[in-house]
Amino acid sequence: MSINWFPGHMAVFVKEAKKAMAEHDVVVEVLDARCPMASANPLVETLRTHRQRPCLKVLNKMDLADPAVTQAWLTFFNAQKDVTAIALSCKKLGEAAKVVTAAKKLAPHRSDNFKPLRMMVMGVPNVGKSTLINALLKKRAAKVGDEPAVTKVLHRYDLTSEASLTDTPGLMWPKIEHESDGLMLAASHIIGTKAYHESEVAVFLAEILLERYPQALAARYNCPLPGEAKGIDGVSVVEAVAAKRGYRLKGGAFDFEKAAITLLTDYRGGALGRVSLETPASFKAKWGTQAGLHIPTVA
Ligand code: GDP
Repeated sequence: MSINWFPGHMAVFVKEAKKAMAEHDVVVEVLDARCPMASANPLVETLRTHRQRPCLKVLNKMDLADPAVTQAWLTFFNAQKDVTAIALSCKKLGEAAKVVTAAKKLAPHRSDNFKPLRMMVMGVPNVGKSTLINALLKKRAAKVGDEPAVTKVLHRYDLTSEASLTDTPGLMWPKIEHESDGLMLAASHIIGTKAYHESEVAVFLAEILLERYPQALAARYNCPLPGEAKGIDGVSVVEAVAAKRGYRLKGGAFDFEKAAITLLTDYRGGALGRVSLETPASFKAKWGTQAGLHIPTVA
């Protein structure tokens, strides 16, 4: 998959973030609860461990993710050193406040007017950083968009006299080791629309849904359950979407592209129910003993 990672922007970001890390107490890393490891920029881990900063992992969009899988991820992350993980939907009233409460516990020495708690919000595009910041500030300060990378520069906001937060641009990293991670990011709209073929992403998504959430596919698109018919795969799921919606090209063939977009839109908007694309077990199976070794170093 060919993806434009804006390497120039990334070099500037790494330099700025490295400097800023020294002046912050806690990294608030916003992740997509549906694919928390695929949506974790390895640079965040590198930068924060370089400065030995604790990390609050926020599994955002939990309203869209499978609750049992989210619970498994919380257990997975909370077992890590200097890490606390919480799950929330920052779009829901009052949920964002959990971030400040949890961050304070990670830096108990920073909680008054003289030593305010300084949080640095990091994460890839479209995971909800701006929505979280706006909710904490209770106003529209950071631009919220559904297209990746709308936040361009580092911005610091005072929440109270005892806590501040800094917004960082949502940037990607140069090389995604596993193609399935790129496909999860594309399915979840973290990678921009020009970076991939919708049909390929939809077939990948359909295969996960078929394996883990076949009932959701059956309920929405009359898709046969595995075992009910032979040869059901990601392609036949997308065709089932086309059949259900009556998407046909001139000549009668299925409009595969249009059905692919429908499947992706339904997943992104939660129309298929609460779905998670990866689990701690699938993550460990993919990386094996390599898990953790993909973290780049910062000079
Ligand atoms: P950023 O690029 O990380 O700053 O992400 P944004 O804050 O711009 O959010 C990207 C998209 O995700 C927007 O359409 C938000 O409305 C949506 N979003 C953010 N948080 C949540 C959440 O908790 N649940 C759901 N369902 N959508 C969310």
